[in-house]
Amino acid sequence: MKHAENDRRKFLARTFQSVGLAALGGMVWSGYADAVKASPLVLRPPGALKEEDFLKACIKCGLCSEACLNRESNFTKEGKRRPGTIEMAKGGEDVLIGTPYFVPRDVPCYMCDDIPCAVACPSGALDIKTLINDDGELDITKARMGLAVVHKESCVAFWGIQCDACYRACPLLDEAITLEYQKNERTGKHAFLLPVVHSDVCTGCGLCEKACITEKPAIFVLPIEHSTGKAGDHYIKGWDKADDERVRNAKEIHTVTERSEKEAADYLNEGIEY
Ligand code: SF4
Ligand code: SF4
Repeated sequence: MKHAENDRRKFLARTFQSVGLAALGGMVWSGYADAVKASPLVLRPPGALKEEDFLKACIKCGLCSEACLNRESNFTKEGKRRPGTIEMAKGGEDVLIGTPYFVPRDVPCYMCDDIPCAVACPSGALDIKTLINDDGELDITKARMGLAVVHKESCVAFWGIQCDACYRACPLLDEAITLEYQKNERTGKHAFLLPVVHSDVCTGCGLCEKACITEKPAIFVLPIEHSTGKAGDHYIKGWDKADDERVRNAKEIHTVTERSEKEAADYLNEGIEY
């Protein structure tokens, strides 16, 4: 295809420009990295290191974004190139300038099997090792870009209106999102089919967020540290051997507060003071 050839040429030209710029501007950029506070809610491409390490490792070359835009699969049926998923942050945005990110409601990640964005990364900021399965193959299902969260109050499925847009859009159909059947007690004769996200499978690609039919998406992707809680080592699933193991390896932590002086029964019977 002629346009593919042109794009490839443009890509190579930009690659050399980028590498040159990165070499020249590395020190300036790292200065920016310290000075500019990035939004903690930003979503990074597949394989990204933890945010703090990612910001140190990423040289802002833009190769991931180029690879995403120029990937073979990024054409419409009519042969037109679609926008890429990965944007490079420009000034005035709530993301550290020059770093790659994506906004699923605009363009989600299409979970390419060959993960060209991560393969193109020269710095290890997108760590290809985290995207390799037990058979030694690239495996996009290992990506953890974020985690989809459902806002029940605005999801119309929780109102009893039939909608399975997110469920159908999910590339890991019936694995990352399942539909849970519940009787609609209000009408007594209808059922709710409720979307449930499974955090051990969801990659955070955002195809569900893109597909959601509500004005502002009722299902959306957040970085994992902002979409998950932690029970702590003092809560144990007694029926689960693996959880027993988790607690056996836990460090003992003593927290001393005013309450430590009292018996539990005493402070539980006290009124709450604000
Ligand atoms: S895996 Fe996602 S981010 Fe990476 S190239 Fe494909 S669509 Fe773009
Ligand atoms: S993530 Fe990698 S490829 Fe993307 S801008 Fe940073 S260093 Fe370049």
